[in-house]
Amino acid sequence: MSRISLVAGNWKMNRTAAEARELVSTMSAKLREIANVEKVVCPPFIAIPALAALLEGSGIGLGAQNLHWEAKGAFTGEVSTDMIKEFCQYVIIGHSERRAYFGETDESVNRKLHAAMKAGLTPIVCVGETLDQYESGKTAEVVRRQISAGLAGIDSAAAARIVVAYEPVWAIGTGKASSGENANHVHQDVIRPALAELLGAENAQAIRILYGGSVTASNAAEFFAYPDIDGALVGGASLKPDEFVAITKAAVRS
Ligand code: PEP
Repeated sequence: MSRISLVAGNWKMNRTAAEARELVSTMSAKLREIANVEKVVCPPFIAIPALAALLEGSGIGLGAQNLHWEAKGAFTGEVSTDMIKEFCQYVIIGHSERRAYFGETDESVNRKLHAAMKAGLTPIVCVGETLDQYESGKTAEVVRRQISAGLAGIDSAAAARIVVAYEPVWAIGTGKASSGENANHVHQDVIRPALAELLGAENAQAIRILYGGSVTASNAAEFFAYPDIDGALVGGASLKPDEFVAITKAAVRS
């Protein structure tokens, strides 16, 4: 099964709208030249409308970093799928920083995923174990639970649109990336079988599984050489235009 690679930049809480425009302007021409890779930038909410105007017709997608599952109402500070959909095609759900600092649970991930699917957005659902869980050999158990609870009840007819990002928490922002071999093992032997159980073998093969955690221009090719690594969710390096362009180039499948 050939899956087109996807490289998404998670800017986290970095860049004002003006800075975001500048950052995209410095890399959009080079990014749009790279064919056969889906390219996405996920800036803070407040920069999204400005970037939507800038990226129109560029083939570079725009994603939000979070959403609320309710359609509208008394939810101060939250952003609904309709609001996101006006500008974006993608949304990150369940990032480990949201799980660690903002009370995100597998249950809230699941509610958000249902809302994103209903809205026609492409969700990038993040899973991954902490350092403690990794060191105590619980990676498979934790990731399996995050997949089965986070993706529960999803209609298998639309499930191929889902993107999963395996992001070991110990590798995020630490400069200590997983090895390609370890990431591919989790994708192939843990995530795809869990997806198959939930959504069927065909969907499990079609769903893109990205690796995230200290991906840089220097290590990207190592990850993309593995057959079950379908792209990357990139944090820090996505704020550096040359790095992000180089990572995206490395993701082109031969
Ligand atoms: C992330 O925030 O999703 C991430 C992978 O960050 P970094 O690339 O900086 O480790």
